[in-house]
Amino acid sequence: MQSSSGEMKLGSIVCQYCGELIDTVDTNRVKILYGVCGLSTCSVNNPKEMEQPLPPQAEQGKRVWHFQEGHAGMKTLLGGKGANLAEMTNAGLPVPPGFTITTDACRAYYSAGGKLPEGLFDEIRSALVKVEQTKKQKFGDSLNPLLVSVRSGSVNSMPGMMDTILNLGLNDNTVKGLASHTGNPQFAYDCYRRLIQMFGNVVFDIEGIHFETLLHRKKNELAIDEDKDVPVEAWIEIIEKFKEVIEWRANVPFPQDVYEQLHLAVEAVFRSWNNQRANVYRKAYNIPDSQGTAVNIQSMVFGNMGDDCGTGVLFTRNPSTGEKALYGEYLINAQGEDVVAGIRTPLPIAKLNQEMPEIYEQLVQTAAKLEAHYKDMQDIEFTVEKGKLFILQTRNGKRTAQAAVKLAVHFVHERILTIEEAMLRIDVEHLNQLLHRAIDEDEKLQVLAVGLPASPGAATGQVVFDADKAEEWSRSGKRVVLVSSETSPEDIHGVIAAEGVLTSRGGMTSHAAVVARGMGKPCVCGCEEVRIDTGEGQFIAGDVKVREGDWITLDGSTGRVIAGTVTLKEPEMSDELGQLLKWADDIRALKIRTNADSPEDAAKARSFGAEGIGLCRTEHMFMSASRLPVVQAMILADNLKDRKAALDQLLPMQQSDFEGIFAAMEGLPVTIRLLDPPLHEFLPNMEELLLRQERMKKDADTIDERSALDQLIRKVRNLQEMNPMLGWRGCRLGILIPEIYQMQVIAIFRAVLALQKKGVQVVPEIMIPLVGHVNELKAMRELVDRTAEDVLGTLKEQVPYQVGTMIEVPRAALTAGQIAQYADFFSFGTNDLTQMTFGYSRDDAEGKFLTHYVEHHILSQNPFQVLDTEGVGLLIEWAVESGRSKKPGLKTGICGEHGGEKDSIFFCHQTGLDYVSCSPFRIPLARIAAAQAQLIHSR
Ligand code: PEP
Ligand code: MG
Repeated sequence: MQSSSGEMKLGSIVCQYCGELIDTVDTNRVKILYGVCGLSTCSVNNPKEMEQPLPPQAEQGKRVWHFQEGHAGMKTLLGGKGANLAEMTNAGLPVPPGFTITTDACRAYYSAGGKLPEGLFDEIRSALVKVEQTKKQKFGDSLNPLLVSVRSGSVNSMPGMMDTILNLGLNDNTVKGLASHTGNPQFAYDCYRRLIQMFGNVVFDIEGIHFETLLHRKKNELAIDEDKDVPVEAWIEIIEKFKEVIEWRANVPFPQDVYEQLHLAVEAVFRSWNNQRANVYRKAYNIPDSQGTAVNIQSMVFGNMGDDCGTGVLFTRNPSTGEKALYGEYLINAQGEDVVAGIRTPLPIAKLNQEMPEIYEQLVQTAAKLEAHYKDMQDIEFTVEKGKLFILQTRNGKRTAQAAVKLAVHFVHERILTIEEAMLRIDVEHLNQLLHRAIDEDEKLQVLAVGLPASPGAATGQVVFDADKAEEWSRSGKRVVLVSSETSPEDIHGVIAAEGVLTSRGGMTSHAAVVARGMGKPCVCGCEEVRIDTGEGQFIAGDVKVREGDWITLDGSTGRVIAGTVTLKEPEMSDELGQLLKWADDIRALKIRTNADSPEDAAKARSFGAEGIGLCRTEHMFMSASRLPVVQAMILADNLKDRKAALDQLLPMQQSDFEGIFAAMEGLPVTIRLLDPPLHEFLPNMEELLLRQERMKKDADTIDERSALDQLIRKVRNLQEMNPMLGWRGCRLGILIPEIYQMQVIAIFRAVLALQKKGVQVVPEIMIPLVGHVNELKAMRELVDRTAEDVLGTLKEQVPYQVGTMIEVPRAALTAGQIAQYADFFSFGTNDLTQMTFGYSRDDAEGKFLTHYVEHHILSQNPFQVLDTEGVGLLIEWAVESGRSKKPGLKTGICGEHGGEKDSIFFCHQTGLDYVSCSPFRIPLARIAAAQAQLIHSR
């Protein structure tokens, strides 16, 4: 294609989240070279609204695309399903013909107040003509009718959240044509009743129960278990009853005009973008509401025409473990959603090799072809119609974190991906799953039942039987396990609220399994030994009754359902994760440190790959039960002598803490922050003291005891502040009571000397908190240097150390150039910096208004979780630049909670910080995020 200037420039559209190549295009026709790939492995957690590539002039405004016209790079316009159907069609795979109505059209539908935009239905009708020609059938024909499915298809995969209608095009007349053309009236009328049921549900919002009750009644009457055994006369009777249900509930007859059916179905699928479960899902995965869904209209193929037909879902590798083996389920003589709906328990795919060996072989080849084509594990839907295989969908399969890591490493070994590509595939938040707990096998377990191990990890909670209650109990602070015969997309809020999910029906690809895996929640599925009686509010497994509110434990890795609570073990790293992390270390520029204030945490962090401690909060060492009385004595001391006496007692304790931490971090830098919180935090709570005082008045306590308490109350009152977070804390304490910092510095250097004597290399860094003015740091640095000299004496030269400051007060960031004169390093305390930049109390904002702000899009994210790059970030950039302009070698890092969050890590990398520091369990995640940052924005 030539640009207007006649010159063609090629460029790549790369997913801004995972770096996946979306398309190679003529750069003259795209506004920007970034997009969102919509891969399930991509940060579905964080897609943002993007400008879309502009289609070529001739195609601009085109709202209906035949499968032959699209390709996989058009997900934003055609949705994931439409783009992949197009890609497969063009790759020569057996895809039933059809077309896609764009997400643009969906947005136009909403802008037009919920009406199909002008001219769209004519475009749909003419697209349908082409499908009729290919299929040699006619829509609405009484002899050989074309039937279509109408399916939603969003940009980011939202499994089961929106609606689908199958068998569209059947009416009282065409059903006869289908019956005689196929010679299978039983099948034809089954299709018709399915259509009326789905249509009633999706278009007229009639609950499925109204139809299901009628069907169950008829099956009972005929003593039939399975739908496939219902005779044609019974279907005809049921169909009439279903039509009455529609008329009764919707006040209109079921439309006999097939074009009216189509019109209503397209509108209903657009509408389903805004149903409750889709909204909940979008919120949970941060998918923009404005994206809209595409609609795919595809000619039907039938898996329910007899025993040479079937339908199934297949993963090219095991989505739970990442193992290289076909993995999936199928049902013979079944249609559409039967496999995922969990109504019949399907058979494992390996069995298809015996039942339909040729089809199985074709599936093996198709799976390999699709995996190689998409360079990723695929989740494929297929149908077999009269011995012929059709592929209805492929998409990158949702996977557990364990599988994601294994796949990334194996794809590199199999030369499907480069290390860099594999690294960018990892959704770092997903890695949290790997840090999931497991059952402690040393414990005696009362296993109640065993189901399918649908999503790994272990969870303990109280049993609830419905999604609303799960949400309600979880809101009130309870941990719940959702137990249900099966889940449907309507239960999404319950799944989100639950610690884990147990279902008695449905397979590994059932709704509960897919959704729980995506969320990283333990799930046990198809556990038929569990008999649920919601009326009685209980389930029975063997001879044990488990009532609502009883505690159970799920082991999603083995499928076990265990009575009561069980000790859970912390996870260990797999070889593949180890490999991936090594690759990440070779790539990344940012160093990763940890926030740790005990030798145990330091050792754990080191085992996860920490390259030092970025923040050791010393106040945590003051809080233990044995130390608190001494700390309180120090705070409450009436004179310097008493205070020093208390500090003398604390000193050896602090020294031994530091020795432990230095030893655990041997050879690596350890940043110790001197005392930060306001002193009243170490004293008893005022309300408790007043209660005690009340009680004493009644009890016969001694006068001495009473006056001691009165004195304590007076002192606590003295230390109370209206705004303690903005009060006497951090270096402000160190300046007014220098003995405290002095004691801490003495303890640090004595610990250094003690360890050096043992041959342990120590790299101490002393950090002053809450500096806002250069003179504060100047004074505190003098105190540290002086004290160090006193302790080290002639050994000073042998103990190199650094003194730096936290930058957590906006004024410190603004005057960083001055502050840098006295600092060897800056560590951005983004918790306080966010608090003070926004003026939001970090203790209150989340509970009071921040959630509302985020829900109502006043803020796009909670700034205490994801760094506000526009405001707080600006201060950081300014501070780094002005600090380094005064002191070129100035070391910089971040130690607020943001140090373990992916987007914030990207920002730190781009701003040129030397390190991020985060909690021990976030370290693997941070190592990979830092590598991704380097790959996307190399520095
Ligand atoms: C911070 O403010 O970001 C910080 C790390 O310090 P703290 O959370 O202890 O106040
Ligand atoms: Mg702070």
